[in-house]
Amino acid sequence: MENCLFCRIVRGEIPSTKVFEDDQILAFKDIEPQAPVHVLVVPKKHYDSIMQLKAEDGALLAHVFEVIQYVANEFDIAEKGFRVVVNTGKEGGQSVDHVHFHVLGGRSMEWPPG
Ligand code: 5GP
Ligand code: ZN
Repeated sequence: MENCLFCRIVRGEIPSTKVFEDDQILAFKDIEPQAPVHVLVVPKKHYDSIMQLKAEDGALLAHVFEVIQYVANEFDIAEKGFRVVVNTGKEGGQSVDHVHFHVLGGRSMEWPPG
């Protein structure tokens, strides 16, 4: 999508601090971190939200979780624990309409979330 922020980051038109990249996925540091570790794991293919995902996207989604594991190991939060968040829609707090998985760690998380 031409003007989508994360499509532009995927294309390299907007710089990001990359953590992982392959042909399907880009992971980069959140510009406004909410925890000592805050990485966004983003499928390169544009989906507005998880509401557009289908069964045929299953392999991609499994790969997303492999990348999340990589991020957790890389930032040493795999053993301590961490949180994966997918904000969806207005009340869900989604501000960028391109599917992304927040990986948050390095501090204790609260429940319920705000
Ligand atoms: P959402 O609010 O949609 O769940 O998450 C969007 C996230 O993208 C926010 O945490 C926000 O800080 C992050 N973000 C917004 N613009 C940029 C940007 O230009 N670069 C990076 N690295 N993160 C961004
Ligand atoms: Zn996009």
